[in-house]
Amino acid sequence: MTIRTEEADLSAFTLPSEFDSLKYHIKTLSYLTRAFTAGTLSHALLFTGLQGVGKQLAAQMLSMVCNCLERSVPDDSEQSGDDESSFWPCGQCRSCHKILNKSHPDILLIRPTGSLIKIDQVRSLIQKLSLKPYEAENRFVIIADADFMNPEAGNALLKVLEEPPDRTTIILTAGQVSDLLPTIVSRCMHIRLSPIPEDFIARFLKEDYEATPDEAGILARMASGSISRAVFMKTNHWLDRRNHLIQELVNLRERSVGFIMAFAERLAQDKERLTECLEIFRIWLRDLIVYRYAPDRIVYADLEDTIRNEYQKSDSETLLSLVDLIHTVQKKIESNGNVRLSTEILMMKMAGQ
Ligand SMILES: [Zn+2]
Repeated sequence: MTIRTEEADLSAFTLPSEFDSLKYHIKTLSYLTRAFTAGTLSHALLFTGLQGVGKQLAAQMLSMVCNCLERSVPDDSEQSGDDESSFWPCGQCRSCHKILNKSHPDILLIRPTGSLIKIDQVRSLIQKLSLKPYEAENRFVIIADADFMNPEAGNALLKVLEEPPDRTTIILTAGQVSDLLPTIVSRCMHIRLSPIPEDFIARFLKEDYEATPDEAGILARMASGSISRAVFMKTNHWLDRRNHLIQELVNLRERSVGFIMAFAERLAQDKERLTECLEIFRIWLRDLIVYRYAPDRIVYADLEDTIRNEYQKSDSETLLSLVDLIHTVQKKIESNGNVRLSTEILMMKMAGQ
């Protein structure tokens, strides 16, 4: 199920700023809260959507609003859904406080330990669920990244999904339905959280993270619909790193072979960081190619002056062959091949050697 989403003004509510990103999903959350209040909410929910779209945060929010001691209960006249904000939790009552501090005994979070959710975790959950909730109006179990459940754990969970204990809602989050056992999917009500549009992410970065308009625009484009990725990039100074790397690339033609090799070696040392650098390079090359034909379509719009200076120094064919070389390095990373050698070749070619 996909529910049309749009924003609402929630400025009257005091929650940590990360929750502001949920404004985009407020229709979905209001729908679920309304169902909860009416007693028709399914006891097993499955939230799917891109990584970083807010699945886990939405699950936490639902657990909070359904247990908020100050929740205003809508009357029938509000069925039209005009006043979504009446479904938002207060963020200050005892229940909200405990959930925000992750200390509520009835809000249980299960996530992969190592690379998997293992059967022992599900067994221990089943044991906890055999007891009544301690204090919550409704207990919530959030199983994050449920696609990382091994089949044994998945099968153990089936029975609970089929007959959940009283006053208990289980929320699974996953990238997509096809990543889960069909037997699990069929027992859940499926809610798909849509990717968050660039303009929403850009505005969020400007308002909540003091990003400049240029910075917000670029990070929003690079985040591919994921608000947490955008925030991560902002708080980890992605833009500074990109500026530094692009400056290095621009200067590469003037560098000695020794310098280029040392630069390549530094890049190849950390595969995770290299993946990020390659993506920065790929967009840069793409912009150099695109600028010739459609200067208003470049991604690094804040670097337009540099792009204007650089784009004619190589022809499109050379630039495209560099993009191919980037793919070669990416494949080496994935296959655990000789990353250093292919990074050296890439950097030498980038330098026009
Ligand atoms: Zn509250």
